Amino acid sequence: MEKWILTSGINNCGGRCVIKACVKDGDIVKIATEKSIAKENQVPLTACPRGMNYTETFLSDKRLKYPMKRVGKRGEGKFKRISWDEAIKTIVNEWIRIREKYGPGSRYVNYATGNMGIMRGYAMAKHLLALDGGFLDYYNSYSDACTTIATPYTYGTEITGNSLTELKESSLIILCGHNPAETRFGDFLWHLKEAKKAGVKIIAIDPRFSDTAKTIADEWIGIRPGTDSALIDAMAYVIYEKSLHDKEFLDKFCIGFDEEHMPEGIKSGESYVSYLKGKNDGILKTPKWAEEITGVSAEKIEKLAKEYASAKPAAFIQGWGSQRHSNGEQSVRSSTLIACMTGNVGVAGGWAGGKGEVKGHEKPKFPQAKNPYQGKIPVFLWTDAIFRGTEMTSDEDGIIGSAGLDSNIKMILNLAGNMLVNQHSDVNRTIKILKDESLCEFIVCSDLFMTPSAKFADILLPGTSMFENENITRPWMYGDFLLYNNKVIDPLHESRFEYDWLRDVARELGLFEKFSMGGKSLRGYLEYIYEDLRIRETELPSFSSFMSNGGYKYKNNKTYIAFSKQIEDPINYPFPTPTGKIEIFSKRLYDMEKPDEIPAIPKYVPSFEGVGDNKKEKYPLQLIGWHTKRRTHSTHDSNEKLSSLEAQKLWINSFDARQRGIFDGDEVEVYNDRGRIKIIAHVTQKIIKGVVGMPQGAWYEADDKGCDKGGSINVLTTSKPTPLAKGNPQHSNLVEVQLQNKKGC
Ligand code: SF4
Repeated sequence: MEKWILTSGINNCGGRCVIKACVKDGDIVKIATEKSIAKENQVPLTACPRGMNYTETFLSDKRLKYPMKRVGKRGEGKFKRISWDEAIKTIVNEWIRIREKYGPGSRYVNYATGNMGIMRGYAMAKHLLALDGGFLDYYNSYSDACTTIATPYTYGTEITGNSLTELKESSLIILCGHNPAETRFGDFLWHLKEAKKAGVKIIAIDPRFSDTAKTIADEWIGIRPGTDSALIDAMAYVIYEKSLHDKEFLDKFCIGFDEEHMPEGIKSGESYVSYLKGKNDGILKTPKWAEEITGVSAEKIEKLAKEYASAKPAAFIQGWGSQRHSNGEQSVRSSTLIACMTGNVGVAGGWAGGKGEVKGHEKPKFPQAKNPYQGKIPVFLWTDAIFRGTEMTSDEDGIIGSAGLDSNIKMILNLAGNMLVNQHSDVNRTIKILKDESLCEFIVCSDLFMTPSAKFADILLPGTSMFENENITRPWMYGDFLLYNNKVIDPLHESRFEYDWLRDVARELGLFEKFSMGGKSLRGYLEYIYEDLRIRETELPSFSSFMSNGGYKYKNNKTYIAFSKQIEDPINYPFPTPTGKIEIFSKRLYDMEKPDEIPAIPKYVPSFEGVGDNKKEKYPLQLIGWHTKRRTHSTHDSNEKLSSLEAQKLWINSFDARQRGIFDGDEVEVYNDRGRIKIIAHVTQKIIKGVVGMPQGAWYEADDKGCDKGGSINVLTTSKPTPLAKGNPQHSNLVEVQLQNKKGC
């Protein structure tokens, strides 16, 4: 007999969608999506094409079937089948050996986003390690490092967004490096469409004519990567010169805009207006100046500036693509500056800039034990912590929680993630570090497939898909619902969910009772987490009702406008900064005394592998990546069927292609000092001159000369961190492209 079961996607796409799976005799025979949880005028929770292909992706023959141990050299991909008993024993022995020899801080759980349910492999592993003496933790993420760190220097918080329902109150929306049509990014696209229906003009600024620019924008402005701050500086120049700025707002709420509103003790000439007027460098930040840097014509910049300053209210919304640059912190702070200049902070239809996080519903919390080991690294520097962890410092490397680290990383647990090789920058460098078995001595991976990362495991465990265990999921910050992943089928082959086998590890360590909170089943754990949330979110139904309905959509949703209280009543609600004001000039940044890299005011900083880098003589093209609708990061790459949504190709402007004798469909090699990728060229006007790009997330696959034929952009990205956040500048890369084979040859 057929039975329909409700479950949900748990990918890291920002959305969460309801999936209905039809099961017969223990197998899924079809899947569909479901509309009933959301009402007609609400964001539909229906699946995208990836979701409708979940069975092809997750239940394919390519699944890992049993535990294995490495038999060849690390990374060679040679493994031997072992039993779960042997796998657990090996893990426990190494876990203890490494703790005793190098200390708890030598154990690291890698960043992973293959499972974004509340019960995630990495969270559970960290919990167990914390109970067992501790582990080296990280802060930041690969998504938003620069904006998370830089936004609070202006506002004192990263919660700077408004409820998306308020977008339709805007008179103009400018999306800068923001592409929700392809990334999903929660409910953003749906609300933009609502705003458009309400007559709001939308402008997309992006080096690429993205799906967002194509489907929702009235105008596309192509810009060179990493130059947003120069564009904003020139807009600010026009707005200031034409007296279109909101002087009253700036005088009342901000520090550092002009010389009359500077913190005490700062020499003259350091304000933002002085910078615009070239007080120290002799350069007026005119549209003509910015045209040279951004590639956007001076006329267009002037028009954009006037349009933005005159539209009341207006939302200049920066996506997170803009901050994954070598000067990402600057573009973040620039987006806050332009909002302040025009008084678009704290108002419906405006947008304060920066990270754009909103205060929404309470989050379900995995009850992680306190980590006794205090030191933390910026997540992007984990490869450095393998070979020079003990030399890393707070000043240079962003270590927090302690002055330094006791040990280099000696053990890595990489659970449901492809960051070990594929998704981290500079793949060839990472491979070299991981191959040296004297550095990191033990690596455990749990995955569904033999990914580029899984090949580097010493013990490789078959994980479960979203169909094979229960979980609770929630969307990224803008969503107002929770979904329940009902279990649809039993785990395939010998696959086990992390909670299952980590309990065995805990038992061997004598920590079973603590780890499982008295022997809780997975469902028992989920119920505990849900009931804890219900104390804070009293509107939620009973756990059994939540499960049987496959989720819950909140009815009581408060509209959130960032800083509305501060604007209405600044005396009683100062900004949470050291001065209580919006800090256009940040004394904290000034005191770092690194004005060339980390200036105290938001301004354009030419940075490494950007338009101003001397390396451009050798590698004249800027390379960017994007989130493709064909994958969620690297998930689904193994599903060939989804290639029809978007093929893995290098986008190159017709002008650049012509100069290199390249035609659409030719095979080319993209290269720099870090590596080479063989890929098919897509010659197009939809990416600007001087810029090439490819979707991120394709799986690395080297040919016998070490050239990647999978199209993994991280073969070419740099591992050098950004100056302040120590974040990943994954869109700041200089490359050259050359023809390899003509189409059809
Ligand atoms: S990939 Fe994301 S948007 Fe697509 S169905 Fe899954 S959860 Fe929904």
